[in-house]
Amino acid sequence: MLVDSFRVDSPHVEYTEDVIKSTYEYQTTEFLHEQRKSDGKYEWVARPKSVPYQFATQCKVPKLGMMLVGWGGNNGSTLTAGILANKEGISWVTKDGVQHANYFGSLTQASTCRVGSFRGEEIHVPFKSILPMVDPNDLVIGGWDISNMNLADAMDRARVLDIDLQKQLRPLMQDMVPMPGIYDPDFIAANQESRANNLIKGTKKEQMERIIQDIRTFKAQNKVDKIVVLWTANTERYSDVIVGLNDTKDNLFASLEKGEKEISPSTLFALACIHEQVPFINGSPQNTFVPGVIEYAVEKNSLIGGDDFKSGQTKMKSVLVDFLVGAGIKPTSIVSYNHLGNNDGMNLSAPQTFRSKEISKSNVVDDMVASNSILYAPGEHPDHVIVIKYVPYVGDSKRAMDEYTSEIFMGGRNTIVMHNTCEDSLLAAPLILDLVLLAELCTRIQFKEDGEEKLHSFHPVATLLSYLTKAPLVPAGTPVVNALAKQRAMLENIMRACIGLSPDNNMMLEYK
Ligand code: NAD
Repeated sequence: MLVDSFRVDSPHVEYTEDVIKSTYEYQTTEFLHEQRKSDGKYEWVARPKSVPYQFATQCKVPKLGMMLVGWGGNNGSTLTAGILANKEGISWVTKDGVQHANYFGSLTQASTCRVGSFRGEEIHVPFKSILPMVDPNDLVIGGWDISNMNLADAMDRARVLDIDLQKQLRPLMQDMVPMPGIYDPDFIAANQESRANNLIKGTKKEQMERIIQDIRTFKAQNKVDKIVVLWTANTERYSDVIVGLNDTKDNLFASLEKGEKEISPSTLFALACIHEQVPFINGSPQNTFVPGVIEYAVEKNSLIGGDDFKSGQTKMKSVLVDFLVGAGIKPTSIVSYNHLGNNDGMNLSAPQTFRSKEISKSNVVDDMVASNSILYAPGEHPDHVIVIKYVPYVGDSKRAMDEYTSEIFMGGRNTIVMHNTCEDSLLAAPLILDLVLLAELCTRIQFKEDGEEKLHSFHPVATLLSYLTKAPLVPAGTPVVNALAKQRAMLENIMRACIGLSPDNNMMLEYK
């Protein structure tokens, strides 16, 4: 049964007009030391640990502006169209019948969580109902693009949505025109030059200052309370991380003054957002967050998150390999081919931008492999190869072919082959939405561990968003979790803690 709205009745939760306060016992297990047993062998001592935490979540949902870098691209135009179609309740005719607007593929809008039971029946609630969240239909949308094409034409250029839907949306989108973007041909493929007709001129510092101004103007003109900026522009090549150039905040700002060419456009956007304490999320694979940017974000306590949307092939990989390794099966070779024909594919056909994608797709099985040294010797890793080819004819309909070979019982081999065909932007758009809504939510949650004096926000490097990213950005010293189910559980369980609910432990003892 689905329950749309609920309130927790518990001595550990207090709802006021402005805040939901909860206390929560965080239970973990600590390994203490090795000790010698009577038979002379050694064993470890593990001790359960319980630490009280307090959470406080601001209830007032702000009027939120979503500003996309690369607004006129396939993802940007598809998401804008999707939100407008939902907002206006649009239906359209397809060869399969009438289709209604929905938010399928969005964790926050279209998934549920099991919370408890009523007279033996399982009760699920919409993910978005656990804590107060911005309604996507209320988002104010804007952004930048190096192409000045209006959003209606951009939607047409993307060739993603059905034509009957496009016709209905055109009047709503034709006046939406992106603000000029920062074009640096050194960072994206040379084949993008022809669309670069909408550019911020000037030095790198002036370009960054212009972005700051754009954010302020957008906020004032649209009377929004808060803004989240998300990079869904072209994949850039990696920036070289160089001592003295971008390795610290001070060096990065000194480099900005000098107009160092190694500062990428995405890094300029990140700096502008941090300056304004506006959350900035990187949906592409490049290393926008060079060490100097991270230091600046930490200093300003301004949320940053990334990298690279985890939409299709990698999402599947972070489920399948988790399942195999968790089942005691040893993946030994993973080979992933992709071909796609959209502008992203064209941009990725240049070796330096492909390399960014290859890196972000490569590390996704590391934590699962490291979790099982019964299967893998120290340093052992499956062969893992990634190929991406540009095939214009298939457009946004990306093809992903994967071969997973594993060692099974008694020297046996198991090979799984998958073929996945899907519009890339229809996978990415709901993820962008979730990233924006969850980033905003993160800025309203404060917490403290027992003994800490004051409530504080989460670390500005937003690991809570990992479920949605291929190469989760984490603070130094924090383990990277790629396994999809663990990432979802982390997010859901922290949200549950905010209303004093324990994680869903799936023990179902009441039925045993
Ligand atoms: P796209 O090429 O259609 O759109 C990118 C847009 O960015 C273009 O309109 C381009 O003009 C604009 N642009 C480029 N540089 C800019 C800059 N410096 N400032 C402002 N605008 C700029 O690509 P897409 O399919 O929308 O994908 C966008 C990004 O998302 C790509 O980097 C892609 O790798 C990443 N991504 C997509 C998916 C997916 O499933 N679609 C998954 C993971 C990551």
